[in-house]
Amino acid sequence: MDRIVSLPGDGIGPEVTAQARRVLDAVCSHHGLEIEWAEGLIGGSSIDAHGTPLQDEVIELCRGSRGVLLGAVGGPKWDALSVDVRPEKGLLGIRKALGLFANLRPAAVIPALADASALRPEVVRGIDLLVVRELTGGIYFGEPKGRGEEGGVRRGWNTMVYDETEVARITRVAFEQARLRRNHVTHVHKANVLDVSQLWMDVVEEVAKDFADVTLSHQLVDSCAMLLVRDPGRFDVLVTGNLFGDILSDQAAEITGSLGMLPSASLATGGFGLFEPVHGSAPDIAGKDQANPLAAILSGAMLLETSLDCPAGAADVRAAVSATLEAGFRTGDLLLEGEDRPVVGCRRMGDEVLARLGAK
Ligand code: NAD
Repeated sequence: MDRIVSLPGDGIGPEVTAQARRVLDAVCSHHGLEIEWAEGLIGGSSIDAHGTPLQDEVIELCRGSRGVLLGAVGGPKWDALSVDVRPEKGLLGIRKALGLFANLRPAAVIPALADASALRPEVVRGIDLLVVRELTGGIYFGEPKGRGEEGGVRRGWNTMVYDETEVARITRVAFEQARLRRNHVTHVHKANVLDVSQLWMDVVEEVAKDFADVTLSHQLVDSCAMLLVRDPGRFDVLVTGNLFGDILSDQAAEITGSLGMLPSASLATGGFGLFEPVHGSAPDIAGKDQANPLAAILSGAMLLETSLDCPAGAADVRAAVSATLEAGFRTGDLLLEGEDRPVVGCRRMGDEVLARLGAK
């Protein structure tokens, strides 16, 4: 029996995770996987109940599980609190406590939603890429860092530093993901300027030798940014450090044009991970059954593939989501300007996905 922890969080978090749980239950039962759920509080809901955004007990609960499905945290109710006890602190705390070093952000355009992108439909059609970003190292954490003054001139500095073990483990994640997809990895770097990128080059090449079935190319980060807009369909898996990954994953996400559709995963070693939609707690629509649950449902597909080792189940979920959209079902956020079709709520969208899994 595999335990999965659900941390619904705040705002629309409980609504969307409820639908993702229904879908995961159905797929697991279909594929003969036995899972049990445990639930915990995080973010504002934990502050309300326990005075802290993340309790040690919740971290322990997650540590004893195969994976964690998270909704979203935050909302105006807690905005006035000091930074140390804000809901976001719970999210940062759990990522750190669980050693989540690999951030996976897929950007796929479902044909039925190709018109939602700011790019021309013929450019976005067929996009199905994954940004694998190193999450715990690089310039966001490197020392020395600081601000100071020298001779009356103010200065600020940070250090982009990686050691070879950090580079090798994120590169392995990228190659393993490529094997689940189209077997191509693009390493994104700035080796023409940065010494740290030259280390990445060497280590990525070394790791690639263990993955003869996966092809590798290297792309300068500046030209990668251009190609993501001009010809995004050429990419399969992109692997890169924390800073470049932060920027490129948002750029890739925006290409799809649908915030309510974007899943993500943050992985530790051994396939354990935390899976969550990219969107926030959407307080403006919370509790109204208006949220789009598909990003949470697609995060569940990533959990199936990565933590439960069930790629077939993940493929079923993705196919059911596509079929639901092809059939014309839309939550309010997916409606295009001037589009005239009926809108369904969060639960109904979950029903329709379940129906296409053969499990209403
Ligand atoms: P948001 O993503 O919550 O909402 C932005 C807009 O998109 C809103 O209009 C919202 O209604 C809409 N939206 C988002 N997800 C949707 C969905 N699934 N279905 C339909 N519409 C959806 O971002 P925000 O408004 O900047 O932040 C709101 C709160 O969420 C803040 O407290 C912020 O700190 C928090 N937040 C949390 C996370 C997280 O938990 N990972 C991420 C981003 C923001």
